[in-house]
Amino acid sequence: MTSQTPSDCLFCKIVAGEIPSDRVAESDRSIAFRDINPAAPIHVLVVPRRHEPTVGALAAASGDDLADVFRLAARVAEEEGVADAHRMIVNTGSDAGQTIFHAHVHLLAGATFTERGMV
Ligand code: 5GP
Ligand code: ZN
Repeated sequence: MTSQTPSDCLFCKIVAGEIPSDRVAESDRSIAFRDINPAAPIHVLVVPRRHEPTVGALAAASGDDLADVFRLAARVAEEEGVADAHRMIVNTGSDAGQTIFHAHVHLLAGATFTERGMV
């Protein structure tokens, strides 16, 4: 599995505030900010402050951090008014579209999701 150290990790820099982001929510364990290249009218990334390369590695390292990412994603969905109509997506591995190897969940909403290709 490809890995990046926190010192060269884009999302670690966003967590630290070294790179600006449009932050919409945060907790003591996670932050949520808008995707720079949105794939839907609402597209928020929720990332743990802790660096782990994948959601699976995060689950193994800290169930509390894993739970918090999804808790914060659900809170953002509520605040954006899409609690009943959104997708949460996790890409794992470059062949599945993961480009940033710091665990994150995509919260997508505001479009009609009718594609049934993957699930
Ligand atoms: P992945 O492809 O790894 O699942 O998701 C990475 C996401 O990060 C992509 O949707 C991409 O648009 C987003 N992204 C990449 N660089 C930046 C950045 O500098 N700022 C923000 N807000 N999003 C970024
Ligand atoms: Zn990181």
